[in-house]
Amino acid sequence: MKITLLGTGSPIPDPNRAGPSSLVSSDGSVLLIDAGRGVVTRLVGAGYFPPMLTGVLLTHLHSDHISDLNDIITSYWVMSQPDSETPLSIWGPPGTIKLVQHILEMLQEDIHYRITHHDDLNAAPRLNVVEVAPGDVFTVGTLSVKVGETDHRPVHPSVAFRISDGVHDVVMAGDGIPCDTLDELLVGADAYVQTVLREDIVKMVPVARLQDILDYHSTVEQAAQTAQRAGIKHLILTHYVPAPPPGGEAEWAAAAKEHFSGNLVVGPDLTSIDLNA
Ligand SMILES: [Zn+2]
Ligand SMILES: [Zn+2]
Repeated sequence: MKITLLGTGSPIPDPNRAGPSSLVSSDGSVLLIDAGRGVVTRLVGAGYFPPMLTGVLLTHLHSDHISDLNDIITSYWVMSQPDSETPLSIWGPPGTIKLVQHILEMLQEDIHYRITHHDDLNAAPRLNVVEVAPGDVFTVGTLSVKVGETDHRPVHPSVAFRISDGVHDVVMAGDGIPCDTLDELLVGADAYVQTVLREDIVKMVPVARLQDILDYHSTVEQAAQTAQRAGIKHLILTHYVPAPPPGGEAEWAAAAKEHFSGNLVVGPDLTSIDLNA
């Protein structure tokens, strides 16, 4: 199983970091988790064109995690061969079906242009959208996925996904603060991907709207403590707020290592870890 951080940024625009999105791949199955700003560019950077995706998982419907889902939908559609296109499957919390319907409405002119122009393009994007709830278990390609609840209130519902290939398990936690349901989902997992912020830096910025984010995101220290509590081997941090400058991740790693004794991953976009290595 390989985990790749496609975009390690956050809502704060950054010239070096795309918005939140990650990739989990194993045995030819490729799952995209969240679809933030620039996701298609980074997906190609990781070696995958959109039609190579086996499915898309959304942790919650905050704009930074879904802003380029429309690009995934369009590129998957126009880059698929007409005789081999399978519906793009998207799993997300309640509200995902409405979100995708609205994206298709936004794209309706483009969809019309392309169907009119290309003889071999005769139908709108084919999508299979499923809304999930905590406790749900489903299969995508060769991977099994279990849904767990996270605490990102007032954003509700928000979920985490535990993805297993039968050899390794990774929990893709999305945004949120430590909670019992996340702890339960993490028990026995090999790897844990958590979005984080640096509380010490954010607290120094006298902007009320930035201070607001402190109460619904894990700090680096909290993510490390959660991983340590669950006995996780590999903690992978992403969605850095505020993003460290290129090469500045060591300070983040040092803060986490005070609370976590396993393997720690903090890095630029396209950082990956192969659990089979
Ligand atoms: Zn969020
Ligand atoms: Zn976010």
